[in-house]
Amino acid sequence: MSSLTEAPAAAAARYPDLASIIDGERVVGAGTRRPVRDPATGRVLTELPLLDRATIARATESAVRAFATWRRSDAAERARLLRDAADLLRRRSDAIAVAMTLENGKPIGEARGEVAFSADILDFFAGEAERPAGRISDSGTRNRLTFGPIGPIAAFTTWNYPLTVPARKLGAALAAGCTVVLKADEDTPASAAALVEALVDAGLPAGVVQLVFGDPAEVSEVTIAHPGIRKVSFTGSAAVGRLLAERAGRLGKPLMLELGGHAPVLVFDDVDVEAVARQAVGAKFHNAGQSCGSPTRFLVQESVHDPFVDAFAAAAREVRVDDGIRETTVMGALGNERRIAAIRSLVDDAVERGARAVTGGALERPGHFWAPTLLTDVPDQARAMHEEPFGPLALTRRIRDADEAIGIANSLPYGLAAYVFTDSARRLDNVTDRLEVGMIGANVFGVGDATTYFGGAKESGYGAEGGPEAVSEYQVPKLVAAAR
Ligand code: NAD
Repeated sequence: MSSLTEAPAAAAARYPDLASIIDGERVVGAGTRRPVRDPATGRVLTELPLLDRATIARATESAVRAFATWRRSDAAERARLLRDAADLLRRRSDAIAVAMTLENGKPIGEARGEVAFSADILDFFAGEAERPAGRISDSGTRNRLTFGPIGPIAAFTTWNYPLTVPARKLGAALAAGCTVVLKADEDTPASAAALVEALVDAGLPAGVVQLVFGDPAEVSEVTIAHPGIRKVSFTGSAAVGRLLAERAGRLGKPLMLELGGHAPVLVFDDVDVEAVARQAVGAKFHNAGQSCGSPTRFLVQESVHDPFVDAFAAAAREVRVDDGIRETTVMGALGNERRIAAIRSLVDDAVERGARAVTGGALERPGHFWAPTLLTDVPDQARAMHEEPFGPLALTRRIRDADEAIGIANSLPYGLAAYVFTDSARRLDNVTDRLEVGMIGANVFGVGDATTYFGGAKESGYGAEGGPEAVSEYQVPKLVAAAR
């Protein structure tokens, strides 16, 4: 039955039976089982088998061994593999999207979009595999600089984009010639499993990607400590990121970290504020606001602040919140109960400190639902102004001019994304120059497509998840200086 018409209960029956994938085979291991729940209903979708320590170690060992061959594989073969896997994702899109919506809560349309986007990412990295960078120079010796694979990778991915984040890491690492032990998120395992299955079905050699589900602390301990693992790649919360950074740092192993943000949106008085507000609602409540680049602090010039708020609130009230498996849903359930508790606490704190709740709030229904929420005139001391909400919460604050806006925008340790709306080319230039972030949307929401750089500044992390720079994360330069 097509997901266009089926009821949530019928869709739940389509959730796959899952296991880790080691050397191309499904492996259950001797660990415990962990329930995977639908955040829209609380229903248990499956019991995910977790690997025991010895099996995690065996999977890591095999990835380290496989590197010796994979590093020497033909770049054209790596590209073909990534393209074939991309095609398989597209062909399997309907089933993968249903599983993603069930485990994550996002609307089915967004889930299909994530499958298509992830396939495009694999295609892009296939092209990068075919375009190896390098440099030749002559300085008495003939110098040839090439970039080889850094080695086997321990990669950790999260639940908010359960397919795209693994696709970014695996696409870039495989293109570079690295092997990977991937610990995907245990609450959203089907999406990552679908990606690894597509790679296996496209002909991935044994050991090149090992998908391991286990106790998170145990998996990171075993994989990072293995002397053959040469780099750690992590996307997720700052707390876990720091923990892994300490562990890798003690062993002298490099990391790439993508840890989230608290994106400011600077709205000046020379734009059509109502149009910007409508676009802002689409961007803010995409994935229920659970995106590291989600626009959150709306810094709006005084004279247009109130019209912006009215237009934003009107559009936010129109957002249809429901079980993501229904085609008409615009915003689904939040990923887990932790997000509901976090949003409730940030909203209560802001309102106690004097913020005005314009629209939104808790929704009394089963599952983890929270209505699209707008708070205005939020005091700078409110926790929501400096802690990442990672949920459907938008905040406004009035600003006098660009200088004040820049001061507030740059005041946080985060530095992932920012957005600027102005009709003045000169102001745009000045403001984009001064914003301390890795990515800026200039008169547009959304940064980082399948081909571009994706990454943050300051405490939002270091290293790239997108573009040719992402492949560089998994490479080491090598200079050959040859006698003439
Ligand atoms: P969390 O810290 O509980 O993270 C859960 C994830 O981290 C799971 O996948 C888990 O397996 C993994 N994890 C936990 N301990 C680990 C360990 N010792 N070793 C390896 N992996 C481990 O965070 P959360 O509650 O899911 O989210 C909290 C915050 O994280 C959000 O508010 C948001 O700021 C941030 N976040 C950022 C992104 C991003 O894209 N950068 C994505 C998700 C969450």
